[in-house]
Amino acid sequence: MKAFAYLTSKNEPRIGVETEDGRLNFTQIWRYFKEIQNFPNAPDLPFLQLMVELDYFSQETIDQVIAAVKEVRDLEDLRITEPVRFQTPVARPTKILCLGRNYRAHAAELNNAVPEAPMFFTKVPSCLLPHQGQVRILDGVGRVDHELELAVIISKKGSNIPESSAMGHVAGYTIANDITAREMQRADQAKGRPWTLSKGMDTFCPLGPYLVPADAVKDPHNLEMKLTVNGQVRQSGNTSAMVFQIPALIAYISKFMTLEPGDVLLTGTPEGVGPIVPGDTIECSIDGLGTLIHSVVQVQ
Ligand code: MG
Repeated sequence: MKAFAYLTSKNEPRIGVETEDGRLNFTQIWRYFKEIQNFPNAPDLPFLQLMVELDYFSQETIDQVIAAVKEVRDLEDLRITEPVRFQTPVARPTKILCLGRNYRAHAAELNNAVPEAPMFFTKVPSCLLPHQGQVRILDGVGRVDHELELAVIISKKGSNIPESSAMGHVAGYTIANDITAREMQRADQAKGRPWTLSKGMDTFCPLGPYLVPADAVKDPHNLEMKLTVNGQVRQSGNTSAMVFQIPALIAYISKFMTLEPGDVLLTGTPEGVGPIVPGDTIECSIDGLGTLIHSVVQVQ
């Protein structure tokens, strides 16, 4: 089961789900469910992020809701038949936390050592870009790279989260491309400046297309990953090669920062990073999570 946030042709926000019964309008299914359960004061669910924030987002819940509605009515008119405009699975996270050098072979390809503790930096929420969007490269910024990453979406709020319960704070998984203005990043690094601009420009975080619930992913540390540029494979890896795994990352960062529902955690990129240029089509795939596609344009 995969969920997604989308806009209808009338720009109305909805949650969609891909199930064995096809592509369904879950926002409407939830409304029927509230009626059946005589649950009128429960909130409507137009946004996937809201479902995450309420901690309703799981395969188990979605299956139960669909099954209850299916018992009393036909799902036929709840199918999504029109083309949808994908939105990012979360639209307004309080933060996007990212890992530097979390795959040995990638650290080596940029002549960096693997850090002794997780090396975090942030991207800003305004750089999120939905599936089928355009990454905009500002004229004159030099080389810009792709970095395919597994993204974790946080469900329950928490600080000082122990490793043993860290996975209970994960709503689900999606795909990210940690777009990086590499020349700018290197120049800033050489001067001891932070990476904020080179990592945080508008459109520099394609995210999606789906959010797959944590209880639908058997092992997030054994997923094949592949990124192609114009059909040619550039990155090919497996999340098993992460230096610091998800529970360790959540335990570490939550000592310093409270994790909020909807926050995004990018877990680092495998080797094979390289430049993208205007006109390119990038396809980012992770086992079971689908394929995130975007193009690239130049802007002044
Ligand atoms: Mg990265």
